[in-house]
Amino acid sequence: MRNPHAGEPFDTSDEEIAEALLDVSVPTLLLSLVHMSGDPSIIRGRLRPAGLFLNEVQGYMTEEDKEEARALALEVIRDYRDRGCPEPEPISPELLHEMMTWLVCEDVPEEYVPLLLEEMELDGRDARRVEPVGDAADRAAFPVVVIGCGQSGLLAGIRLQEAGIPFTIVEKNAGVGGTWWENSYPGARVDVGNHFYCYSFEPSDHWTEYFARQPELQRYFQSVMDKHGIGPHVRWETEVLGTTWDEDSATWSVRTRAVDGTEEVLTARAVISAVGQLNRPNVPEIEGADTFAGPAFHSARWDHGVDLVGKRVAMIGAGASGFQIAPTIAPDVAQLTVFQRTAQWMFPNPNYHATVGPGVRWALRHLPFYGRWYRFLILWPGCDKGLEAARVDPDYPDQQTAVSEMNELTRQMFTDWIVGQVGDDPELIAKVVPDYPATGKRTLQDNGAWLGALTRDNVELVRTGIDHIEPDAVVTVDGERYPADVLVYATGFQATKVLAPMAIIGRDGVDLRELWGERPAAYLGIIVPGFPNFFCMYGPGTNLAHGGSLIFHSECQMRYITQCIEAIIAGGHRTMEPLVERYEDWHERSQRELRGLVWAQPSIRHSFFKNSAGEIHVLSPWRLVDYWTWTRSPDLDDFVLG
Ligand code: NAP
Repeated sequence: MRNPHAGEPFDTSDEEIAEALLDVSVPTLLLSLVHMSGDPSIIRGRLRPAGLFLNEVQGYMTEEDKEEARALALEVIRDYRDRGCPEPEPISPELLHEMMTWLVCEDVPEEYVPLLLEEMELDGRDARRVEPVGDAADRAAFPVVVIGCGQSGLLAGIRLQEAGIPFTIVEKNAGVGGTWWENSYPGARVDVGNHFYCYSFEPSDHWTEYFARQPELQRYFQSVMDKHGIGPHVRWETEVLGTTWDEDSATWSVRTRAVDGTEEVLTARAVISAVGQLNRPNVPEIEGADTFAGPAFHSARWDHGVDLVGKRVAMIGAGASGFQIAPTIAPDVAQLTVFQRTAQWMFPNPNYHATVGPGVRWALRHLPFYGRWYRFLILWPGCDKGLEAARVDPDYPDQQTAVSEMNELTRQMFTDWIVGQVGDDPELIAKVVPDYPATGKRTLQDNGAWLGALTRDNVELVRTGIDHIEPDAVVTVDGERYPADVLVYATGFQATKVLAPMAIIGRDGVDLRELWGERPAAYLGIIVPGFPNFFCMYGPGTNLAHGGSLIFHSECQMRYITQCIEAIIAGGHRTMEPLVERYEDWHERSQRELRGLVWAQPSIRHSFFKNSAGEIHVLSPWRLVDYWTWTRSPDLDDFVLG
């Protein structure tokens, strides 16, 4: 069978090919030519990218060089087409490493190569798929309940199905997608490039935008679900209330409640929580909020029945969601007042709202491994570099606004980007330039839309605290009254309350929420002692603020979880849980690392990463390559197998 990433054969005319090449990433194209021709000299000459920056996919090549590269490409592609588009011969590991280094203009350390090759699947093999082992009848007698059908729950279903393990997914919404089902607010789109923000094993040639909007993302998850036949395993509009471990039968009793109020108990040998961390809206308690006369709703519960045209809208909160909402609704509303407690750092991404041209889609579909190298090009700049930039240099003076020299340079670059857009408006500059270290909260990507919206006549940014809400206005602590017809809470999620509000009751009746308090932890972010056969995806300590993508993390976690389940079944065991010392050591080391990273800086007063004591338990402080290595396969010495 042809390698699925080798591209579909084509008979496109020379003219159409030449037209398509005008759209594509030229450095990525040159690597595809190496596959087509088998000739590495293509990347050993003068034509090469000159530098690397996240989402800068032309590698800063000059127009002349790009033109020359396209002319060369036309020749190679024409020859490849005329030969009938044969599947390219595999490329040696040494040359693949050279191609990686060439594309990103820097050494790609040896330790990353296996991760990257796996992520790119150049051999056409889905290496994260766990093949069934052991007896089929034993697997069939090991039902698993998955909580949630977002990106991680859907993935769990796909992997369990491949492993021949029966499963039921319980999803509180009426459809697949999780966050991409719920967050339908105007302007909702992903800010990790979609050719990387998609499953590694599912093709990515269909995106219409580089950073797709919510409907397209939801459709993607729907299509993956349909393709893999996962839908029949899902109980829609059904919420998991809690789950209780029974030692005698070594099962979990999962209590569910359907939308019609019917309650049921599902019995499972293992439970996988795939509920995410950004699931339960945070609506701050503001005096008088319940007296507001007009429509009021949270960004993740957008009321599409409310027509905003000509209305005065007050939006409380402006993090990642508000940042997308404001520019989208500003042209329609009479007045938009944005109440922002903390200014946000942002950096330029010219592709943020760009559409994927037909030429790129043609290349993704037909040019061997073009899409795979493009995936690498989007992944690599956010692969662990952000973590180094987030590290606090204890000797760096004045930790208030920067935590290291590199962090200071980042602050200057981000500040230049912000100030350059605002122009000569010192009042607005004072409001929009953050006073805490760069990347200290989740950094936003920008193409000018946010500040463009703030400079509109009908938009006002208010940085003064809110005192109370009246039936038709928001009133700030300085007594200023801001009239409003509609109130939008873009105030984020209860991210630190991991797995809330479910009651997870483990061995000896221990309630996981009580055990955790405000300090949730799991070994590798996945599994907790005393809660046998209970696994988390996107659990405590696994949110990513430094790069990568949550889909990447989910794929690591689910491979690990599937292998754990296989180990229980094939070993004839009943239970699996981590050694207490492994769990404690993991949490302690994670905490030590986190304390040395910018997100923990005390100058960052408000952050959904922090608990009320200012500690961080939800984020990963680890390099992607380390997490990938640790989760490649479970070391049974880390566990108690009962
Ligand atoms: P968020 O980033 O936590 O922002 C919440 C906003 O509400 C902040 O401005 C926050 O102010 C404010 N706020 C919260 N409580 C408040 C209070 N009591 N009084 C006044 N202001 C208050 O939430 P979000 O924008 O929904 O984003 C959450 C996460 O979802 C993101 O970090 C990201 O991981 C994800 N997300 C991603 C995308 C994307 O990929 N494009 C889009 C949306 C969301 P402070 O900053 O002062 O706390």
